[in-house]
Amino acid sequence: MKGADEVLLVVDVQNDFMPGGALAVAHGDEVVLVVNRLARAFSHVVLTQDWHPASHVSFAANHAGRTPFETMALPYGEQVLWPVHCVQNTPGAALHRDLDVPHARLVIRKGHHVDVDSYSAFLEADRTTPTGLAGYLRDTGVKRVYCCGLATDYCVAWSALDARAAGFDVAVIEDASRAIDLNGSLDAAWRDLRNAGVTRMQAAALLA
Ligand SMILES: [Zn+2]
Repeated sequence: MKGADEVLLVVDVQNDFMPGGALAVAHGDEVVLVVNRLARAFSHVVLTQDWHPASHVSFAANHAGRTPFETMALPYGEQVLWPVHCVQNTPGAALHRDLDVPHARLVIRKGHHVDVDSYSAFLEADRTTPTGLAGYLRDTGVKRVYCCGLATDYCVAWSALDARAAGFDVAVIEDASRAIDLNGSLDAAWRDLRNAGVTRMQAAALLA
C-alpha cells in the first residue's frame, strides 16, 4: 500500500471519452481495469470529472461556423474547439460504470465555468483560477501525485504539469492513460512533462 503522503489522481474516466462516446479517446476503455488495480494499491485516490454547462465555450457547436478540433482565440488564449461532451448530469459525463474505486475521497469537477475550459485538475485554462485541488492535497499531507486516465496529452498532462508547478513530486502512469494525439500533441506533452521533471512510469512498477 502506498503511503499517506501519496495520492492517485484518476483523470476523466467518463463515458464521453470512451470508444463510442462524444469525444472518444482511442482505447480509452482499456484504462479502466488498470486504474482499478492501481487504486487498490492507494489509500488516497482522487477522481476528476469533466463537467460542462451545455453552453460551454469549448464546444464548437456554440460558435457559429466552427467545427470540432479547430482552434479559436479566446480571451485567455488559444482553445481547441471540441464536440459537445461531458455536459453536466448527462450519461456521457458519468464515470465509466466499471470504474471500481469505492474508497475515492474526492471527485473534483472541472470545466464548470461557462467561459473557461479546464484541462487541468488544478488550474483552469485561464491559468489563474484554481480548482482548490492543490490546497486540498497540501492540507491532507500529500507530497507525491501519480496521474493517470484520459487523455494523456490533455487533461492528464496539464494536471501533472500543474501539480509539479504547485510543488508536488509527480509521475504519469503511461499504461493507465490513453491519448487523443491531435497534431503531435502526445509527443509535445511527453516533452513538456520530461522538461518539468515529471516521472514517466508504467503501472507494473506500482503493482509489484
Ligand atoms: Zn471538456
